[in-house]
Amino acid sequence: MFVRMKRDIQPLCDRHFSRMQPAAIKLDFGTADDYWIEVYACPESDCGRLYNITHGYFNFRDRMIERDTKKLVGCKNDSLPMFIEAVSDGRAQWRCGQDRCNHTISD
Ligand SMILES: [Zn+2]
Ligand SMILES: [Zn+2]
Repeated sequence: MFVRMKRDIQPLCDRHFSRMQPAAIKLDFGTADDYWIEVYACPESDCGRLYNITHGYFNFRDRMIERDTKKLVGCKNDSLPMFIEAVSDGRAQWRCGQDRCNHTISD
């Protein structure tokens, strides 16, 4: 299956429920190749939460993903990480981030 993040999504931070902004981060695997990934970033200072279709929600430090900060809610159709699209009555509405998959859940 080809993994491709939906275009024009507006994920909310899983901690602040703030609307995340498109960004790109550079991962460091110790090679000469720069490896950029598209992410969405929480705008709150001192938060640093990011979301993307490969890793779900995570924090990033020293050009590395902090493994114990990952939060991955998998879509039941394709197991890819979902994002919070809206919050109503304290319940998060999750939507799959994979292009062309429209699976949603509320927790
Ligand atoms: Zn946040
Ligand atoms: Zn899906």
